[in-house]
Amino acid sequence: MDSEGPTRARLISLVVPMHNEEPVIDTFFDAVVPILEGLTGRYEIVCVNDGSRDGTLERLHRAREANPNIRIIDLSRNFGKEVALTAGIDHTSGDAVIPIDADLQDPPDLIPALVEKWRDGYDMVLAVRGDRRSDSLTKRLTANFFYRLIGRISETPIPANTGDFRLMDRQVVEALRSLPERTRFMKGLFAWLGFRQTTVTYVRQPRAGGETSWRYWRLWNFALEGIVSFTTLPLRVWSYLGLIFAFCALVYMSVIVLRTLIYGVDIPGYASLIVIILFFSGMNMIGLGILGEYIGRVFIEVKQRPIYLIRDKFGFDEPAGRPTVVKLDQAAASE
Ligand code: UDP
Ligand code: MG
Repeated sequence: MDSEGPTRARLISLVVPMHNEEPVIDTFFDAVVPILEGLTGRYEIVCVNDGSRDGTLERLHRAREANPNIRIIDLSRNFGKEVALTAGIDHTSGDAVIPIDADLQDPPDLIPALVEKWRDGYDMVLAVRGDRRSDSLTKRLTANFFYRLIGRISETPIPANTGDFRLMDRQVVEALRSLPERTRFMKGLFAWLGFRQTTVTYVRQPRAGGETSWRYWRLWNFALEGIVSFTTLPLRVWSYLGLIFAFCALVYMSVIVLRTLIYGVDIPGYASLIVIILFFSGMNMIGLGILGEYIGRVFIEVKQRPIYLIRDKFGFDEPAGRPTVVKLDQAAASE
């Protein structure tokens, strides 16, 4: 298997989501291209321009003139990294697909190691961060907390310290593409897939340039997405909490009844009353909010909108991948 791998020269696809990455694009290609050329003669780099407002697209075009293995998907606006990644993966034709960040935080030096494991027969090779020292302390702590929480409550454990950087066999890619949901929490989807998996460890580098598009509010929403897409525990926990509180209320009620019978009518306690009312309205609102999170997602799925819209594609011979706009037309025609 190991010996026949290189001779068959299977195609390797890199998928790079890019949002305002002008400062690092050239460095990125300079780092990645020699590695891919050393590895295999057949590769493609699918770059997804995710609504950048800087010169990312122009730089991509310039890079493509020099290297026809670079392909470009220009999304109609900023859809966010998860969706950009989905668009890119949909348009790959490689036997192995590797999503990678443009800022060189996922070290391209690791690609040969990923490919080697794949040639050994693994379907999915995860790149695991052995060291996150380049991330801020708060980011590390919150990330740590998130993985432990979701590991506890979700039926699909999401491996800690892995990003989207990994290698997937074509079979896994097709399985991933068969998942229809519009809310794309990629780490969770990857984990749900299964297949024969193995890991390779690396050290996470600081950004090579430019700045991160993730603010804390965005990270929080991302974490929420992960939890709400991959577990229904927050929905179910309310019935148990409700039962506990109802039971406590029942006990307290019998205490009051007994006390009234023995000592006569009590002085009405305004303070405790208002505290209880406030507490339970709070609980109600939390419960409603959680229902809202799920219903909101159901709403998004029910609308059946395409996951992304493409303004333009460069470097694809035929319309590949999930036909977004076409799909809408076909749906209309068949009705
Ligand atoms: N990215 C994207 N769309 C977005 C935000 C980010 O395509 O809306 C891309 C970005 O260009 C980069 C990758 O996702 O290639 C990771 O983003 P970033 O480095 O900002 O995230 P971090 O490394 O801080 O998690
Ligand atoms: Mg980064």
